[in-house]
Amino acid sequence: MTRHFTYLAIGAGSGGIASANRAAMRGVSAAVIEAKAVGGTCVNVGCVPKKVMWYGAHIAEAIKYSTDYGFKLTENGFDWATLVKNRQAYIERIHAGYQRGFSSNGVEYIEGFARFVNANTVEVNGEQITADHITIAVGGKPLLPDVPGAEYGIDSDGFFALTAQPTKALVIGAGYIAVEIAGVLHALGSDSHLLIRKDRPLRDFDPDITDMLLERMSQDKLQLHKHINVTKVVKNRDGTLTVYCDNNVEFTDVDCLIWAIGREPATANLNLQAAGVTVDERGFIRTDQYQNTNIKGIYAVGDITGEAQLTPVAIKAGRQLAERLFNPAMPDAHMDYSLIPTVVFSHPPIGTIGLTEAQAREQYGDANIKVYRSSFAAMYNAITSHRALSRFKLVCAGKDEKVVGLHGIGEGMDEVLQGFAVAMKMGATKADFDATVALHPTSAEEFCTMT
Ligand code: FAD
Ligand code: NDP
Repeated sequence: MTRHFTYLAIGAGSGGIASANRAAMRGVSAAVIEAKAVGGTCVNVGCVPKKVMWYGAHIAEAIKYSTDYGFKLTENGFDWATLVKNRQAYIERIHAGYQRGFSSNGVEYIEGFARFVNANTVEVNGEQITADHITIAVGGKPLLPDVPGAEYGIDSDGFFALTAQPTKALVIGAGYIAVEIAGVLHALGSDSHLLIRKDRPLRDFDPDITDMLLERMSQDKLQLHKHINVTKVVKNRDGTLTVYCDNNVEFTDVDCLIWAIGREPATANLNLQAAGVTVDERGFIRTDQYQNTNIKGIYAVGDITGEAQLTPVAIKAGRQLAERLFNPAMPDAHMDYSLIPTVVFSHPPIGTIGLTEAQAREQYGDANIKVYRSSFAAMYNAITSHRALSRFKLVCAGKDEKVVGLHGIGEGMDEVLQGFAVAMKMGATKADFDATVALHPTSAEEFCTMT
């Protein structure tokens, strides 16, 4: 049995779904193949369940500080299983929404694992499917370290599979996932430890922001262990783990060890060789700015390309690709990878876009950079015993002080960033920020009142 489509996406995650839907909306026959669950990483083991857990943590924090707002609450515990049940029910509804979208757009959804047979044919469930255009949108998967006993730990996928709350959790890693998971576990009441190999997490972020993150972690008593490497993990008779680290440090009675040390491309068994598609030294499929791989008619979008591993990036790249291929009015459509805003759902959240101060100084020269900073107590916690600081920062370049970097950590920063990202995309200068009337009382107004 064989079928033919004009457009075929491998992987029904953020990029594959967006591109197949847009292709079908432009009138061509389109299909998407998925080996696991529709929605991919973001919906099933990424952004969505993470944000739900973060909201749970947010409620826990609000309860903690509610007494300062006059509430007399009796805390009767927290039921992890209820949160997980409601989270998963929400995810099921998202799955159903995707299926409705496929039906209304006319996208064929094919369950199964795809392997290339040649450059325009893939095999799935024993069936050969041909297509004029094939997009590889297979995403990535968590990395595990090469440490004895590493298999006793879980990764971020395993974190979302937990049905009970860990009592003592060790999170290893220093990126988005480690920071987010450790923060959630801590706020929900697990004895949480974040182990990093260097002096701070999120080392690619502006140090003014990560300095404040360290301050807030310390204030919140999240147990951060710096300059530490796990050397061995041993499983004890009672099921707990003992985690051995360098410098004779060890952690006992650990019931949950989570590796969050990065992700790798998910191309194993895809048989890229049969299609002639090459990968870089880290296994990512490199593309030009139009998402073309080295083989004509084969494209790649999303995490598999090694570009910013964010859902909106995968979606935009997928949609732009479909527009370029099937919309005669947009022959040059392509994803613009500059000025991508990003948020870390830490406690409090971090939002950032553009250059760090160091990057800007290197790019424009010290003399051409002006930096504005504001550290302030957000009103939300200013009246509580949890008097914590937020910090916002603008990095401006040139005589006209074009805003080339905008960074913030503080309550609400996750929602603040989007609008400022639009302004920066339009080339806003510090004078434009100053000319905008502030919104009071908000945290966001700090970006328009810095001197
Ligand atoms: P994916 O979403 O990974 O989809 C790839 C799909 O391809 C998968 O469903 C996989 O099963 C399928 N597949 C793989 N191989 C085959 C095959 N051979 N045949 C058929 N199907 C196959 N991004 C944000 O923007 N905001 C966030 O808050 C955020 N939080 C995150 C939290 C976590 C814990 C993680 C892990 C990621 C998070 N991300 C976040 C990143 C985001 O999830 C990814 O950037 C995004 O999902 C990438 O989309 P994609 O289409 O490239 O790949
Ligand atoms: P990252 O690549 O962001 O970070 C992993 C970090 O872990 C490394 O930078 C490194 O930091 C540290 N590390 C690497 N190897 C080891 C090791 N052997 N032992 C200890 N630490 C190690 O990976 P993540 O898995 O956190 O996230 C992957 C991507 O997913 C992110 O980059 C992001 O694009 C996306 N994501 C986005 C989110 C969002 O938008 N909110 C949330 C979650 C993920 P160092 O060198 O400092 O030790």
